Amino acid sequence: MRICTLGSGSAGNATLVVAGETRVLIDCGLSGRETVKRLQAIGEDPARLDAVVLTHEHGDHARGLAMLAKMLEIEVYAASKTLAACNLGDKMQLIRRGEALVAGQSFSIGALTFHPFSIPHDAADPLAFTVEAAGCRMGVAVDLGYFSAEAAAGFRGCDALILEANHEIEMLKVCTYYPWALKQRIMGRHGHTSNTEMARFLREDFDGKARHIVLAHLSQNTNLPLLARQAAVQALEERSPLFAAEAEKRVSVAPFNHPGDWIEL
Ligand SMILES: [Zn+2]
Ligand SMILES: [Zn+2]
Repeated sequence: MRICTLGSGSAGNATLVVAGETRVLIDCGLSGRETVKRLQAIGEDPARLDAVVLTHEHGDHARGLAMLAKMLEIEVYAASKTLAACNLGDKMQLIRRGEALVAGQSFSIGALTFHPFSIPHDAADPLAFTVEAAGCRMGVAVDLGYFSAEAAAGFRGCDALILEANHEIEMLKVCTYYPWALKQRIMGRHGHTSNTEMARFLREDFDGKARHIVLAHLSQNTNLPLLARQAAVQALEERSPLFAAEAEKRVSVAPFNHPGDWIEL
C-alpha cells in the first residue's frame, strides 16, 4: 500500500491510497484541475483513478467532486446523507455512485477494503476510515471534535495514521481573524481536533503500532507545524521510553498546498 496527501487543511483535503492497480482518493477538496495537477506531480496518471471516498460534505473535502466525476468518470462512495448535503443539483447526473456508505459496514474497491465508522463533527453523517490491503492498514482521522471511544477503537492496528491537528488552543483564542462563534464551533465537541486532543489520543489511546503518523488539517491561522509536531513527539515520548527513540522519525506534517511524501507500507 502507498499513501500520499495531495493537500491538507481548509484550502482542500485529498489523500491518494494505492494498492496494486487500485487507486482511490479519500476526499476531493481541491478543484478538479488542481487535483489532476497534483496527481501528475507525484507521478500518477489521473485517468487511472478508480474512485473517490468522501468523509463528509464540507467544501474543503468535497469541492472537486462534480468536476472530477465528470472529467475522470470515477465512482463516488459516500454516505447517502453526505451526498445529499453536497447540494450538487443538476451535477448529480455526473456522479457514478458506488456503494452508499454506512458506519460499521465494510466495503471493498478493488484491492482496498474500507472500514467506515462515525466520528463527532458538525456534518450530515461524518465518517472516518481505516483502509486495508495485503495485510497493511492505514487510518484517516480528519475533521473530528475529539477522539471518541469509537474513533479510538477504530484506529487500532494501523501501520500509518493521518491525524487531524487543527489548532493550538491558545493561538485560536487570540486569533483576530475569526469571530467568536466560529472559534466556539472549532473548539466544540463536533468541531476540530486541537494539538492537545491529538496528543491526548497518542498518549492514552494509540496502540503504538503505526510507524507513520502524519499530522493533517493544520490551520494556517491558528497552528504551526512545529507546535503540532512537538505535541505529537512529546506525547509519544511520555507514553513509553520504547517509543522515544523513534518518535521524531515517526511524526511528519502534511503540507498545506502541495503533495506530501509518499508513505510505503
Ligand atoms: Zn475539513
Ligand atoms: Zn468538516
